[in-house]
Amino acid sequence: MHKNLRLKIGQGADFIFGNLELVGAFQSKRHKNTEKSGAKARFGCMFKPSWLTLAPALGEVLLLTKASNAKRRQLVVGNWKMNGNLRENASLLAAITKGWQGERGADVVICPPYPYLYQSRECLQHSPILLGAQSVNEQDKGAFTGEVSASMLADLDCKFVIIGHNERRRMQHESDQQVAQKFVAVQKAGLIPILCVGESLQDREQGKHLETISRQLNAVFAHTGKDVFSNAVLAYEPVWAVGTGKTATPEQAEEVHKFMRAQLGVLADEVRILYGGSVKAHNAQQLFALADIDGALLGGASLDANEFLAICKAAE
Ligand code: PEP
Repeated sequence: MHKNLRLKIGQGADFIFGNLELVGAFQSKRHKNTEKSGAKARFGCMFKPSWLTLAPALGEVLLLTKASNAKRRQLVVGNWKMNGNLRENASLLAAITKGWQGERGADVVICPPYPYLYQSRECLQHSPILLGAQSVNEQDKGAFTGEVSASMLADLDCKFVIIGHNERRRMQHESDQQVAQKFVAVQKAGLIPILCVGESLQDREQGKHLETISRQLNAVFAHTGKDVFSNAVLAYEPVWAVGTGKTATPEQAEEVHKFMRAQLGVLADEVRILYGGSVKAHNAQQLFALADIDGALLGGASLDANEFLAICKAAE
C-alpha cells in the first residue's frame, strides 16, 4: 500500500464532470518517500471519478485514499469457525507466526474454536499475533451448559471477541438485543468486541441494506451509548458475501462503511471498521485501499497460511 500519497476528492467528486483535487499525489518511482503536501493539480473528469476508475489511467501516478483514516491501524482477523484439529492448528500457526513477525504496520488476530484457544495461546505466546474468540455468552457465570463467559476468555488471554456474526444471528437465533448484551459483557471483561452487522441478499435487492445495518447498530447504541465504541471494532459483513465467493464491490462496501462511520458521531474517525465477505489475497488490496475500510474479517482465507499472510501484508 502506498502510504505517502494523498488523494483528496473535491466537493463535486461524486458527480460526473466533478473535479478531482490531487494533493501531493505524484510520486515517481525514483522519489519513493516524497510527500509533497503543497502540490496541487486539478483535473476535470469526464467520468465518475472514483479512484478505482482513475488508477489504471494514471499509470505510474500512485494514489492514496487513506488520508482520512491515518489515525486507524489496520486490523486483520481470522475466524476459523468450526475448523481445525490439534495437528492442523499447530502447523497453520507455525506457518503464520513465522510469516508475521510483528515489524509490520497492522494488527493480526486469530479466533480459533473454543477447545483450541489454549493451544493457540501457547503457539502465539512469542508472536505479535493476538488471540480472539468467535462468540461469548452474555452471562457472567452459572447454569448455562455448553456456554463460555467473557471472563473465561480473558483468563485465556483473548483480546477480541466476535459478536453478532451472521451465522450466529441466523443459526443460533441471536437477537439484536442479545448481541447488545454480549457487547457489554465483552467490554466488562476488558476485551474488545468485534461487532458484525450486515444485510441479507433480500435486503440488498430491496435496497434496504442501510436500514438493516442501522437497526443492528442502533440496538447496541441504545444499550450502551456510542462512547464505548472507542474500545470496539465494527465489521461490515454482507450475509450474501460471507462464504459465498461473492465480494461486495468497492462501491458497495465503501457506501456502507461510510454510512456506519457516520453513525458513530464524534468517534467516526477513530473506530476501525472491517470488511468481511469472501476477502482473498487477490481482492484484499483493492478493498483495503478504500478510505473507510480498516482491514478485514476473514473466514475461509484464514485457514490457508499463504493466503492469510498475503492479506495481512496487503493491510500493512
Ligand atoms: C466470516 O465468516 O466472517 C467470513 C468473512 O467468511 P469468508 O471470508 O469465508 O467469507
